[in-house]
Amino acid sequence: TSCRRWRGCRWRRRRRSSRRQGGAPANVAIAVARLGGGAAFVGKLGDDEFGRMLAAILRDNGVDDGGVVFDAGARTALAFVTLRADGEREFMFYRNPSADMLLTHAELNVELIKRAAVFHYGSISLIAEPCRSAHLRAMEIAKEAGALLSYDPNLREALWPSREEARTKILSIWDQADIVKVSEVELEFLTGIDSVEDDVVMKLWRPTMKLLLVTLGDQGCKYYARDFRGAVPSYKVQQVDTTGAGDAFVGALLRRIVQDPSSLQDQKKLEEAIKFANACGAITATKKGAIPSLPTEVEVLKLMESA
Ligand code: ATP
Repeated sequence: TSCRRWRGCRWRRRRRSSRRQGGAPANVAIAVARLGGGAAFVGKLGDDEFGRMLAAILRDNGVDDGGVVFDAGARTALAFVTLRADGEREFMFYRNPSADMLLTHAELNVELIKRAAVFHYGSISLIAEPCRSAHLRAMEIAKEAGALLSYDPNLREALWPSREEARTKILSIWDQADIVKVSEVELEFLTGIDSVEDDVVMKLWRPTMKLLLVTLGDQGCKYYARDFRGAVPSYKVQQVDTTGAGDAFVGALLRRIVQDPSSLQDQKKLEEAIKFANACGAITATKKGAIPSLPTEVEVLKLMESA
C-alpha cells in the first residue's frame, strides 16, 4: 500500500475516511452548550477507549455527562457514514448489541432528568429492549417534572428490523411530544407521500403538540403551531457537509425557546427563533463533521446580520 500509484489512485481517494465523534442527541446537547445554554446527556457507552473518549468530548464541550453510564460487557456504538458524490449520506452500523442499547431504566439519572427544561430524544433508543423501556421511562420522568418534550425521529432505516416496524414504533410516541422536527425524508417515510404541502404535513400534527417543524435543507423550514403556521428561508452559504445541520437547527431552536418560552405562542418571536436556528444549521453545513462545525452565538448572529 505504499506505492505511488496506490497513493494517487481514485479508488483510494474515494475511500479516505476520518474518525468523527457524535450522534444526533449528543450533537444537539453540544449545539446548546456551544450557544451558551446548559445541557446534559443521558445514555450508555462501552467501558472502552471510544466510550471514555466520547464522555470526555461531552465534558470538554460543556455538556454535563452525569447521565452517562458505562457497560463493561459491550462496545460503544459505531457507525460508518459515507458521503456520496451527490452530498447525501449512507449509514452503516456496528451494534451487536452496542452499549447504548443496554441502558436500563434503573440506570437513569432521575435527578438530572427532573432538572431539564426540555427533554430531547430520537427514535434509535426505541428499537430494542432494555433501552426502549428506559427511554419511555425517561420521557415520563421529564414530563412529570414539567419539561417540554422534543422529538427528532432521526430515521436510520438500516437499524430497524423492517420499515413497518420503524414507522409504527416511531409513531408510537408521537402524541407525547410538545415539539417535533422531521426532515423531508422522514415526512415522506411517515406519511407515505412525497410532498411537503401543508395537507401532507398536517397528517403528522397532533392537538397535543406545540410546534411541528419540517426542515428543508438550504430552503430553510416550515413550521406549524396551534394558532399559526409559516415558512422561514435559510441563509445562503457554501454547503460542504450537512451532517449535524439538523441537530444544530434543533439545538439552536431549543436554546431560544428555553430563553423565552413565550416564543411558542407568539408568531413573530417564533420566526426570530427559527431564523436563528436556520443560521445555526446553515453554518454547520459549511464544514465537515457535526461537532466541530457547531457555531457559537456570536457566529450565528454574524451570519444573520450579514444577510
Ligand atoms: P439531519 O440531516 O441532520 O438529520 P435535517 O435533514 O433536518 O437533519 P437539514 O434540513 O439538512 O437537516 O438542515 C437543517 C437546517 O439547517 C435547515 O432547515 C436549514 O435551516 C439549515 N441548512 C442545512 N443545509 C443548509 C444549506 N446548504 N444552506 C443553508 N441552510 C442550510
